Amino acid sequence: MISLSLETSDRVTLIDVTSLVEQALAASGLREGAALVFCPHTTAGLTINENADPTVRRDIAMALDRLVPVDLPFAHLEGNSDAHVKALLVGSSVTVPVEDGRLALGTWQGIYFAEFDGPRRRRLLVQPLAGPRP
Ligand code: ZN
Repeated sequence: MISLSLETSDRVTLIDVTSLVEQALAASGLREGAALVFCPHTTAGLTINENADPTVRRDIAMALDRLVPVDLPFAHLEGNSDAHVKALLVGSSVTVPVEDGRLALGTWQGIYFAEFDGPRRRRLLVQPLAGPRP
């Protein structure tokens, strides 16, 4: 398992971590199989979405804010319940097939670390999963 760290600079932001994951994958030497990417936090998550137009990321963050406003009558005393709910909506891991040592993402796909309670120092775990050569 490879542990990566990143710093987020806003309360809510989607950070493209595709190249970070690719570097970790290259260091692992995995050629065929899959990469399991896991976010070990309860107020952040991971998702795959468009990597071309950065306004898509802003729109996703805006839409999640409208779906789960910070000022709902939450009970959790930390004041970050909206972040917990947004994290469960995006999920805490992605698994991407690996072919010839590269992530088999679609042309317009990138892997995003979704921060909902930043800025914080965060961790990201990458577990290469070896598969049989087809
Ligand atoms: Zn909390």
